[in-house]
Amino acid sequence: MPFCQVIVDIAHEDVDHVFTYRVPRGMALCPGMRVHVPFGRIRRVEGIVVEMVEDCGLPPERIRDVTDTLEDYPAVLPSLLTLARKIKETSFCTLAQALRLMFPAQMRGERVSNRTQEIAVLTVEPAVRAQVLAAQQRAPKRAAVLRALMEEPSGELPWETIRERLGDCRPMLNMLARQGFVRLERREVLRRPYGAMERLSGQDPELTAQQREVLGSLLPAVERGSGAFLLYGVTGSGKTEVFIRAVRRAAQLGKTAIVLVPEIALTPQMVMWFRSRFGEDAAVLHSRLSPGERYDEWRRIRRGEVRVVIGARSAVFAPLENVGLVIIDEEHEQSYLSDAAPRYDAREVARMRCREEGAVLLLASATPSMRSFAMAGRGDLTLLEMPSRVKNRPMPDVHVIDMREELGRGNRSVFSGALLTGLKKCLDAGRQAILFVNRRGYATFVSCRSCGYVVTCSQCDVSMTYHSGENVLRCHYCGQEVPVPRVCPQCGSAYIKYFGVGTQRVEEEVRRFFPDVPTLRMDNDTTRTRDAHATLIERFRRGEARVMIGTQMIAKGLDFPNVTMVGIVAADAMLSLPDYRAAERAFQLLTQVAGRAGRAQAPGEVFLQTYDPGNYAVQAASRQDYRAFFEQEMARRRRALFPPYTLIARLLYEAEEEEDARREAEAAMRQMEAFFERRGYLRKYVVALRVMACPVKRIRGKSRWQVTLKIVDQPVCQEAVKKMSEIAQTPLEGCLCLCQVNPSSMM
Ligand code: ADP
Ligand code: ZN
Ligand code: ZN
Repeated sequence: MPFCQVIVDIAHEDVDHVFTYRVPRGMALCPGMRVHVPFGRIRRVEGIVVEMVEDCGLPPERIRDVTDTLEDYPAVLPSLLTLARKIKETSFCTLAQALRLMFPAQMRGERVSNRTQEIAVLTVEPAVRAQVLAAQQRAPKRAAVLRALMEEPSGELPWETIRERLGDCRPMLNMLARQGFVRLERREVLRRPYGAMERLSGQDPELTAQQREVLGSLLPAVERGSGAFLLYGVTGSGKTEVFIRAVRRAAQLGKTAIVLVPEIALTPQMVMWFRSRFGEDAAVLHSRLSPGERYDEWRRIRRGEVRVVIGARSAVFAPLENVGLVIIDEEHEQSYLSDAAPRYDAREVARMRCREEGAVLLLASATPSMRSFAMAGRGDLTLLEMPSRVKNRPMPDVHVIDMREELGRGNRSVFSGALLTGLKKCLDAGRQAILFVNRRGYATFVSCRSCGYVVTCSQCDVSMTYHSGENVLRCHYCGQEVPVPRVCPQCGSAYIKYFGVGTQRVEEEVRRFFPDVPTLRMDNDTTRTRDAHATLIERFRRGEARVMIGTQMIAKGLDFPNVTMVGIVAADAMLSLPDYRAAERAFQLLTQVAGRAGRAQAPGEVFLQTYDPGNYAVQAASRQDYRAFFEQEMARRRRALFPPYTLIARLLYEAEEEEDARREAEAAMRQMEAFFERRGYLRKYVVALRVMACPVKRIRGKSRWQVTLKIVDQPVCQEAVKKMSEIAQTPLEGCLCLCQVNPSSMM
């Protein structure tokens, strides 16, 4: 066809429609291919062909030619083109933005390239090899090269390998090539993440009765190619085995599968499981891969060389054809929501993709999100349950410890007597323990015990965090550092010191009580480098450390058979987060952390320390009683008009001058009010429409104001969010505006 319609890669509203170009003679084009086109006065922009057309109804002199193609295959599959269109509609972004989700960012602007390798290929027939070798006798180095190649069953070696083995023998290799004994060729090599990795036994365990029952519903759905399920299985119930069997069935049917995990930290473990069952088939996609690895894995998938893709949120866009199954593990995790534009929920995207491609959706969790469990209640998801652990291993025993009593007893350590006794018992038995400390930053701050003064950041309205390694206070929002004050700047008292606990402090305490026990710390500080997650997890699994101290990143999903004791050092910081989901998050986290204990033969014990032992989230988590928590939490949300009964949205304004942020927010408020008033929505569907300074008034030197609202009716939500997105497009110069829906934090 002579013409094509192109979306240019410029994410601006004004160009959010297709432009028509002529296809030069001899150029093979189809939808999804990336091209260079001239655009306005710009000579060359990247674009994506979205449609081929016979006739364009424009005068020929107004149409320009496609310059060239970036690849000789469509980078965006037809099914993903459809998905991008749907994302555009539901996220109110431009099609160019939605399309950018479909391939690695580095492919734009050609910032990654293929890696090639030079290979020497032996061209001598086996029958005459000995003769040829003998003829090279007076050239020992040439003979050595030939011999090395002859020893390879494939008769091939990369030049780099030859050089490593025989030193610099380039002239000899060139000579052999001239003599016609060797052919030199450049071949592409794909960079692979997690190259060398320990393998578990590839044996199938016998399924438990629960696993069989769940698979009894799941496998026929995979065969049919339709269905959406929520697998609610307690920690240690063996959900992974269900995933493996379901993926295998899809593979047997010639279909592919995507497995999403909530955190990059969890990919190596999942990859290891799948590799030991599927060989090299599982590909990995996430943001911690190097650009080259990411590009190569993406191409391996795109070429149809893999059947399973494992990855974080963005792997939902993996360029797989013939998808039969999408699994979302730990579906309750916030990390499945993307806050940056285009805003999307990987669970929703997966649902759309599955429907479009005839695939089964499987959400799984030990603590399903309120939203998904409510959907299962309405029949929008089919509920599958695994209420007990594999081999009837008992759920861990959870002891709730009232820390106020410890203080009363004069115990000022971060550990209660009970936790210490439990830790000692665990270590004496030769087992491993996990100590969970809430995310750094919430716990350790410096305050004055005389007047209550707290050291806060001068740029941001948050308390600064004490780092004992460097003995400094650091702001976790802007990175500013100050020395620890010796006396209180407010009242002059010398009784100013740090309060609460961080991972470093807990590690020091463990070392004080158990000097000979090797420990390992896993938090943002120790996992900065690329393979740090995998390395630390492997070290703990091998038993090189007996106690692991960590933040949220150790809470979920990890399976360490030798861990029998888990200590939650302080549950309180989680309970008092300024967020309507604080209780849900706390319940999930506590349950997940507790679930790390006693996963193999030896039963587990959990010590949960808190200053608020009566809290319903703590109580339900200590009994691992999801349903009780769900009922109570849903009732509270209904009363307080929180999601999923409503939708919460906000327009967030940030500016250098507080006055600017406020003025913009107030203007937005007036527009919103007028919009809802005209439609008669105010007070009927829209409640709590307010404009105010944000709870955290300044971050990184910027003042923050917001317009917040709750909406109770579904169709109105769509309209309102669309309107808000529009308003967010036009803030004053120098003022930043974000439109957020059910934001992960309201600070
Ligand atoms: P979950 O993800 O539900 O918390 P896992 O999938 O990690 O649980 O399984 C918990 C443990 O039980 C793992 O060590 C796993 O190898 C083991 N397991 C799972 N299924 C079986 C089975 N059918 N027989 C024996 N062991 C199993
Ligand atoms: Zn003071
Ligand atoms: Zn700061």
